[in-house]
Amino acid sequence: MNDRGRLIVISGPSGAGKSTVVFKAIENREDICFSTSVTTRKPRPGEVDGREYFFVDLDRFKEMVEKDELLEHAVYVANSYGTPRAYVERQMAAGLNVLLDIEVQGARQIHEKMPEAVMIFIVPPSMAELRRRLEARGTDTERAIEARLIRAGQEYAEADFYDYIIVNDDAEMAARELSAIITAERCRASNRMQYLKAQQ
Ligand code: ADP
Ligand code: 5GP
Repeated sequence: MNDRGRLIVISGPSGAGKSTVVFKAIENREDICFSTSVTTRKPRPGEVDGREYFFVDLDRFKEMVEKDELLEHAVYVANSYGTPRAYVERQMAAGLNVLLDIEVQGARQIHEKMPEAVMIFIVPPSMAELRRRLEARGTDTERAIEARLIRAGQEYAEADFYDYIIVNDDAEMAARELSAIITAERCRASNRMQYLKAQQ
């Protein structure tokens, strides 16, 4: 008998360390897979199509929305982002936990459509540290960094529907917390009632 696959939604300001923490938490875990989003944003140096994102133009993005191929989608700092539906549904049907790294508007759509999804918000220890990380990452212009910092403040104000908050000060500790949350959620009674029923 398999546990049912869960949707795990991770949000938090750009530069909080979501990718860093997620990839540390899921390496060596075979029960979790990562959903690669589509975006109209241009690839950053080092980003590979199909790995960090599927990079598409606005026409293709609109076509995906019209054909209902996206589970959720949103605009973030002038670019569109969305979660391809087919991959998520296939992996969950196979019993895997599917992890989404998405911003707050898209997360709210998932929360409303799929209330059983686990909602996790990752924050840096301070706004000053967030700026430092965005500058150190070196992938965004000064203007883009300012826009992302403004958006971060707005996201904090909108993030009232998350189940867990992880403070990413030490990345190893944050990854352990994320991994522990996913494990605990897998053990939820509501997720495992089938075992009781099968043994009655
Ligand atoms: P996000 O996916 O949230 O946009 P990243 O994972 O790209 O963020 O991290 C942003 C930058 O901060 C990267 O340069 C990353 O190496 C760095 N970083 C991530 N976590 C930490 C941490 N705990 N301490 C210091 N730097 C970190
Ligand atoms: P970045 O441009 O830094 O890669 O991502 C910017 C923001 O878009 C991040 O907050 C990230 O979580 C979010 N994002 C990435 N993919 C998706 C998606 O498929 N849907 C939504 N709604 N947001 C996404």
